[in-house]
Amino acid sequence: MSLTIAERWFETRRIDDDITLLWEPHVVPLLRCNIWHVRGRDRDLLVDTGMGIASLRHAARHLLEKPVLAVATHTHLDHVGGHHEFAERLVHRLEADSLREPGRLATLSTADWAPEEVAMMRNAGYEVPGALITALPHAGYKLSDYRRLPAAPTVIVEEGDVVDLGDRQFDVLHLPGHSPGSIGLWESKTGTLFSGDAIYDGPLLDQLPRSNVADYLRTMRRLRELPVRVVHAGHDPSFGRDRLKQIAEAYLKRRDSKAA
Ligand SMILES: [Zn+2]
Ligand SMILES: [Zn+2]
Repeated sequence: MSLTIAERWFETRRIDDDITLLWEPHVVPLLRCNIWHVRGRDRDLLVDTGMGIASLRHAARHLLEKPVLAVATHTHLDHVGGHHEFAERLVHRLEADSLREPGRLATLSTADWAPEEVAMMRNAGYEVPGALITALPHAGYKLSDYRRLPAAPTVIVEEGDVVDLGDRQFDVLHLPGHSPGSIGLWESKTGTLFSGDAIYDGPLLDQLPRSNVADYLRTMRRLRELPVRVVHAGHDPSFGRDRLKQIAEAYLKRRDSKAA
């Protein structure tokens, strides 16, 4: 297979004075995670860090003037690949071990996936091509070079903990279902939610090895009531309260035998 060399690995879009979105255009949509940089008075946040194929620290260097806390909304491959580049790393207790020790096979070739896994992703509505990237980060890069490096957590959180940037405070919401230690960061003052993969505007995955539908139903009932202004999610475009309610209600209708 011949892939071209990417001119740059990350794209960047300024959302407002303090929030910048970064993403990896040459990663297939299934694994193309949103990376959110939030500027604070005393320190910055990076909400998720992408695949770890190329250096996020280098790509985001113009944004990184202060100490930065790398948050893992959860520890799936596409969200924590760059965590090892940052000294401070935050994760929920239930996924601390998987941030520390990448257990599952990290691969850029879906030939390495179990056939059931490929079928499940397709059933959910994703395209699953043979290669998970559509360009190479640099000349000579091979798909088999890809590794996820361990990144020991420095901050382990639970529901109700507060992440304080000095001028902005985010409450940790435990939002399990997609994965056991999925968290959201909720700033009630501005109605801003960083939701990870608990909710995004695309096909939701609740059949992964550590997913739990009963937990996901509870998470959706909770999110439905949250007075959000904007949700910056783990994938796909951001959305507001009406769309959040639609997504949550569609999920409840689909999975809740007792109806929404
Ligand atoms: Zn995920
Ligand atoms: Zn994801």
